[in-house]
Amino acid sequence: MTGIFLFIGGLLLGSFINMIVWRIPNGITLKGRSLCVHCLHTLAWTDLIPVVSFLLLRFKCRYCLRKISWRYPVLELATAAALVFAWIARPDYFAAALDVSFVVLATGVLVALFVIDHEYQIVPDVITLPAIAVFMVLQITRGVLVSSLLFAALLAGGFFAAQYVFSKGRWIGDGDIRLGVLMGILLGWPHILAALIIAYVLGAGIGLVLIGLGTAKLSSKTPFGTYLAVSTFIALLYGSQLIDWYIRRI
Ligand SMILES: [Zn+2]
Repeated sequence: MTGIFLFIGGLLLGSFINMIVWRIPNGITLKGRSLCVHCLHTLAWTDLIPVVSFLLLRFKCRYCLRKISWRYPVLELATAAALVFAWIARPDYFAAALDVSFVVLATGVLVALFVIDHEYQIVPDVITLPAIAVFMVLQITRGVLVSSLLFAALLAGGFFAAQYVFSKGRWIGDGDIRLGVLMGILLGWPHILAALIIAYVLGAGIGLVLIGLGTAKLSSKTPFGTYLAVSTFIALLYGSQLIDWYIRRI
């Protein structure tokens, strides 16, 4: 039952993220009714049922008949899948209301940052800055040590800031510095280390595969925020296990 509830909630969250990831990079306010991305016609609620509307409308806008990208329903399904996956991996996150709001919000923010960085190569401050403030309050209320949060935020933010200065912005963007701070607040110490290591392993692995397939060159700019969003999600769910495993090995 919880799984079905989370899946439906995830579809709705995904539908909201669809709206954000289109409006923020295009400078459209988040207020107001949903619009068609082509003709800007206001959409009825029947056009907005996650996944179902896309199928019923056969991936076309009801008003201008232009095609709606398959990415919309895929993002809704992916968000729903991420929430159900989080519940299976960490049922303890879904026991108390405060933890549920933390993990659901974190999943939503990470999915949104992943998609925006992937599509537009930006990590928008309008998401990271409020998220840093909101998660700081949530984490302290959940009883996470402030020193652990601040140290992790300083470590990841400082690490990215150093790279940004050293490479004059060629290796990573300045938005990644704020994303590093957000990662620290979401994960605390020492889980932040797991996230950073996963991001670089993932980045190197996928980079090599893409170069192997001939779809990327060594000089290709990769949206690093996408790797950071994925690694943060993995560390949220498996950070403790990964760190235990690492400590047992040394
Ligand atoms: Zn339209």
